[in-house]
Parts: sequence; structure tokens; C-alpha cells
Amino acid sequence: MPAPPWDPGDHARHYHLNSFSGTFPIPTVVPRGQPAGRESKTFRSLESDLNDLRAEGARLGIVDPGETTIGRGSFLSTPIWALKMGTGTQGRVLITGGIHAREWITVELTYLLALYLVQNYRSAPSTPEERRIHHLLHHREIWFVPLINPEGHHFSVFSDRTWRMNLNLHDLPAMDREFPTYDPSTYEAHPTNRRRIQYPAGLYLGVDLNRSFPTHVWICDTKASTHNAQRGTASDTFKGIDFPREAENEALMSLISDHGPFTASLSFHSFGHVLLYTRWGGNHDNNAAPVPRNDHYHYVGQGMKDLYDQRRTYVYTSPYRWYSNPAEPGEAACTGDFLEYHWERTPGCFGFAPEVSPQSPAPPGWEFSGLPESQILPCFVDNLAPALALICCAGYFNQPPGARQTTQPTTNANWAVRLRVMPSCWRVFRDWTAGWP
Ligand SMILES: [Zn+2]
Repeated sequence: MPAPPWDPGDHARHYHLNSFSGTFPIPTVVPRGQPAGRESKTFRSLESDLNDLRAEGARLGIVDPGETTIGRGSFLSTPIWALKMGTGTQGRVLITGGIHAREWITVELTYLLALYLVQNYRSAPSTPEERRIHHLLHHREIWFVPLINPEGHHFSVFSDRTWRMNLNLHDLPAMDREFPTYDPSTYEAHPTNRRRIQYPAGLYLGVDLNRSFPTHVWICDTKASTHNAQRGTASDTFKGIDFPREAENEALMSLISDHGPFTASLSFHSFGHVLLYTRWGGNHDNNAAPVPRNDHYHYVGQGMKDLYDQRRTYVYTSPYRWYSNPAEPGEAACTGDFLEYHWERTPGCFGFAPEVSPQSPAPPGWEFSGLPESQILPCFVDNLAPALALICCAGYFNQPPGARQTTQPTTNANWAVRLRVMPSCWRVFRDWTAGWP
């Protein structure tokens, strides 16, 4: 189904800052530790644009004017802006960007998706495409959080274009402790394998917010966090110490507990053209089948991948497989991320993390914050159909948290219904490209 033509204008020609706009000389992208040059870039204000969008959406009756933030940053209490859209009760969807500071494009994708829905909403739809958008906005509730990590993002713009973590300063005592490792065959901490983490006392800047959610297996991964916890190196996936409680993590956790469950979540990251699902969690204190055996989860993921593949070939895999070093099989490279937390907190509710443009390996200088502004719109169009299909699909798998996910779909009546309905989510949004080739 072709989408209505859409012109986002200036919105798709610049990146956003959290709360102000302007043109600034900022550092260029260079490998860490090397001297940066300067380049001039123009930024829009996310706060201002979201305020405008919220007002326009409220006028149309599809955006809640009362929801503006979900929390604040760890270091400077910077607001984390949000937009709540849709008046429906059949499925609640969470769409987020900017948890990693340098992944600027993810802020834009989240914002542009919200803008697209508001600008293409018609109170009296007349075409099939208009009726589809009308249906989504009156049957779903969609939360947009474009920039989870505003303080790290600010630092990545003005100081270090490769900065990934938040901007919290931790005064840590010396560490020399053993931690459990993770057993990927049981989804539990390994009974005997342990590893040692050591680093000196000192001030440490930043925590990787997508490794510091308090999940069942947080910090149990093996090689990655052994290396990464050695601060003072070039590490940028520091998970925090003991049970992590970064304010940005708390903001998302509160959003889920106060306004969830979210039947689907989409967390944008860059880069590599990979669609990630979580591997961990799910079978230790609830009745959901673990993700690798969850047919329902993979049914949805494969449908999204098919839509991505219309424009770019995406790899569908777990962070475990994507980040693991083949030389060290069986080692978990990623725990404490949002997908894992979401699945543990509300089993049966699926999260996906697209690693969007550029492809990997990236054209020179295009990594992370180096992605040119000319790529914002094409990248948005890559993600439009999969995102709309997930929002649509989320109406057909809302079930109580803890409900058992069957691994034998044909024996389950609910499954039979879903399997009839859900393929239409993929069909409807095939070729939905916002009017661009
Ligand atoms: Zn990321």
C-alpha cells in the first residue's frame, strides 16, 4: 500500500539538540584520542519541535498535552522529553532513541515517526492509507522518547563526537572482586565459573545506559565486561557498579511500571543494518518461553526484517550473536540492555532494536554522529514501514504479563487468531515509503 506523499521540510535536514537550536562550530568525527578539526552544523531544538507537535496533536485530539517528560538526566537533571500519542486501548507501544549519545540519527527517527503520524492524520479519512493511520492512532497508545540520554548527547555534539555513555560522574573505590559469569545454555549465572574485575579508585565519567538496566543477568557476561570494567582504558560500555541506578534507566523503568505494559517496543540504535532481538531473560521467574524458542517473538521479528529488506538487507539476530567474538564461543557480550529488561519486566511483550544506517562497514566518516544530514530522510524511510507494522501488530499480542507463550502455535486458539491477523500487518505496510522511491 503506497503511503501518502509527505514533505517533512526542514525537520529532516538537521539534527536536534535537546533544548536549543542554532548553528555552531563543533568538533569533527575522528578516532578517540586524535585531534579534531571543526565543522559548522545547524541544529533544531527537540524541546521546541516536540512542543509544537504536542500542541498540533492535541488540537487534532490524538496527542496527550499533559505528558511532556519521563524523567531527568543523572548529572544535570536535564529533562528527558516525551510525547504520548493515540487514543486507543488495543496495544501500547514504546519507541525510543538516543540512549547512546553519539547515535544522533536515532533521535531523528523517533521524532520523525511522531511527526509523520501527526502530519498524516486526517480526522475524516478518505483513502485506504488515511484510514490505516486513523485506525492506528485510535486503537494504539504510542509513547515517543526521542532522546533518552540528553546529557551524553550534548557532550557528543560539543566535546567528543564518539561519546556513547551518559555524563554521570562516579567517585569509585578500588575494585577487586569476583563476579559470576553467565551460562547461555541455562539462562542463569554459571554455578562455578567466575571472573575477576579490577580497577583503581578514582573519578569515572559515564555509564553505558544500555548495559545498566537491573536485569537478572546484569554484569554476568564474561569477556566484554571484564574488559569494559577496566576503566581508564578506552572502554565505553561501563555497566555501573553493584545494582545500577542511573536516572535515565530509572526514567524508562518508571515509564514501564507507571504507564505499561508496553506490548511492543522499538529502540533505535546505529549502526550496521541489523535488527536485534534479546536473547536473555524470560524463563527464571515467569512462565514465558525463553526468547530463542519463542515463536511469537520471532514471527514478528521476521515480518519486520522482511519489510527492512525491501530497501536494505538487514541481518536478524541477537546482540549475543552480533557482538560475540567468534574466537570465544559461548561468551555473552551484552547483558543489562533495554530489550532484556523489557522482556523480563513484561514477558510476552516484545522489544526490537534496529541498528540503522549506515551499513557496516560504514563509508569513511559516516559512523555514528558522522552520518550526513542528507541521510536522515532516507534512513527514516527505511524504518517507516517496519515501525508502522510493529505498531499495528502490537494490537494483536497484548496479553497479561506472565501469560505463557506457546512454542506450538497450532495447538493454541489465540495463536490461530493471531496468525490469521498478523500477516496483514506486513502486507498492509509493504511498499509504504512515504512517497519516496
Ligand atoms: Zn546503540
